[in-house]
Amino acid sequence: MSFLPTARRFTREDFTTYLAGLESNWHPSGVTMHHTASPSLAQRPNGFSPQHLINLKDFYQHEKGWSSGPHFFVDDQGDGIILFCALGAKGVHAVSFNSTDWGIEVLGDYDEEDPLTGRGMKCWQNAAWLARTLMTHIGEGAKLHFHRDDPKTSKTCPGTKVTKEWVRLLIDMGETMHTHSDPPMPAHIPRPVLQKGSSGPDVRELQNLLGVKVDGNFGPITHAAVVEFQFRHKLLADGIVGRKTWAALGL
Ligand SMILES: [Zn+2]
Repeated sequence: MSFLPTARRFTREDFTTYLAGLESNWHPSGVTMHHTASPSLAQRPNGFSPQHLINLKDFYQHEKGWSSGPHFFVDDQGDGIILFCALGAKGVHAVSFNSTDWGIEVLGDYDEEDPLTGRGMKCWQNAAWLARTLMTHIGEGAKLHFHRDDPKTSKTCPGTKVTKEWVRLLIDMGETMHTHSDPPMPAHIPRPVLQKGSSGPDVRELQNLLGVKVDGNFGPITHAAVVEFQFRHKLLADGIVGRKTWAALGL
């Protein structure tokens, strides 16, 4: 039995400390990402409440009769890290990955709901931070799985709108953000407002600054990178690069 008596919410700072002090005989080699599908974001307008988490534990333990569940739930409230099952024991979340991976359930139905904007984006940014932290803890060769990578499932989990390329980008960008905490001084050159659909040399410069593929076209990957950047810099995360975002980028 590895359900925690009470699911526990962490800040990033507290979780980092907690993970550093973890003692365990089970050594996972990867992380498997899931979406909750049901409940969807729309069904949980304020994320998971303590009562929701009690109900989830009841559901897995008594309704399904499982000995364990996923290790984490992630939502869009604050840092969104909710520890659900003990990290030192195998969970139950994906047949082929239970024995090797920690399992993360991201709130939302990403067959239908949008992971690239608003609450969906916040959930995935939180999940990417958590995945990165766990993978760093695992060390060299840590694997990132999606539930649908499991040949023993026919599920689309974590949702058809979520690609692994994009999740890896979110994970990698977090590392970049940590190492570039001091933006250069603004040069006060006026820049055009850029958004989805924009193209040209300014977009190339933007992509270069964000560390995404430079093709001069402002598509979904650039949009996601901008939203992530704005979120990290506590700007309005609308994916539109205006004066304040350019300034934060150092231009
Ligand atoms: Zn799943």
